Amino acid sequence: MSTQRTYTIDVIAGDGIGQEVIPPAIRCVDALGARHGYSVVWRERDWGSDYYFTHRRMMPVDGIEQLADGDAILLGAVGHPDLPDHETLWGLLIPIRREFLQYINLRPVRILPGVVSPLRKVTDLDIVVVRENVEGEYSSVGGRVYRGRSEEFAIQEAVFTRTGIERVARFAADLAATRRGRLTSATKSNGIIHSMPLWDEVAADVVRDGAGLTVDSVLIDALAAKVVLDPGAFDVIVASNLFGDILSDLVAAVAGSIGIAPSANINPERRYPSMFEPVHGSAPDIAGRGIANPVGQLWSASLMLGHLGESAAADALMAAVEQTMASGVLTADLGGRADTSEFATQVLRRIDGG
Ligand code: ATP
Ligand code: MG
Repeated sequence: MSTQRTYTIDVIAGDGIGQEVIPPAIRCVDALGARHGYSVVWRERDWGSDYYFTHRRMMPVDGIEQLADGDAILLGAVGHPDLPDHETLWGLLIPIRREFLQYINLRPVRILPGVVSPLRKVTDLDIVVVRENVEGEYSSVGGRVYRGRSEEFAIQEAVFTRTGIERVARFAADLAATRRGRLTSATKSNGIIHSMPLWDEVAADVVRDGAGLTVDSVLIDALAAKVVLDPGAFDVIVASNLFGDILSDLVAAVAGSIGIAPSANINPERRYPSMFEPVHGSAPDIAGRGIANPVGQLWSASLMLGHLGESAAADALMAAVEQTMASGVLTADLGGRADTSEFATQVLRRIDGG
């Protein structure tokens, strides 16, 4: 007889459509728990931009400590038209990623059933972008110098460490070994002459003993073009923080809509909670209308279940999403007519029925 498993999950719905796509994800995870023998204690956090307008912070001073003993974090989106992006990013997302050593940002993309790529010739796309998530180009090292109108400049340093490159490359190589065995490293060592050569060297060291992998290193500009022209040729792509950020949006768009793309901010050692969030933001242009596509959030919840060891529930959630889409139920971003709650109802019906 198996015992009931219980997870404590912090949920930060955040801003805009985050408030609309989180409730369906909670309902699905709970419904799956009833069938698969687990239950969830949800700790809802009212953090984000509204919290900021009252407290002048995106989360409480001890926010990180409050999250530290949870099993995972499920996040909607943060961002508000009246707040600068760096405020919302550096006030919440980046501290969580860094404090909890979530150095892997895993971004799988597939063309889901019922979806036509904006590039009509593309029918074959199943890629995971493994983005380095705590260092690289997004650093706080640098500054702005003003010496009169004609002489103002900014210096932004990129920080790459051997350890940081090694662990992301290793994660990507291990992942590729469980998939189609093909690993592509995104680089730019012809133009960026200090950090990218280190990236290339360390990545090559890591995969040298990776038996059976097909490995190549491709300049990011050429890679962007190739991913558009022949996405079927790629399996796992490992990239720095900035390159991975850009590339994963590109791949998601080629697969139909940014609204379907999930991401997992993972601390592979499991010393700290990992965080699961859709790739899209708060989408202020459609917020409050109930039309957001919840697939990116649901897929993120599926990645969370997989990370928690609930792989049967994780697969069942994606199966329900894919069956719903295959039946022609799609949201407006994919050319359909379903709203968020109709879509969620259809997914729940399939979870309960299957
Ligand atoms: P933020 O500042 O929070 O990043 P943003 O507007 O810059 O917000 P996104 O929220 O990613 O960036 O939105 C980009 C575009 O994609 C918008 O036009 C938005 O409406 C659309 N979009 C994003 N997510 C979804 C979704 N889940 N369903 C439908 N459309 C979406
Ligand atoms: Mg934005």
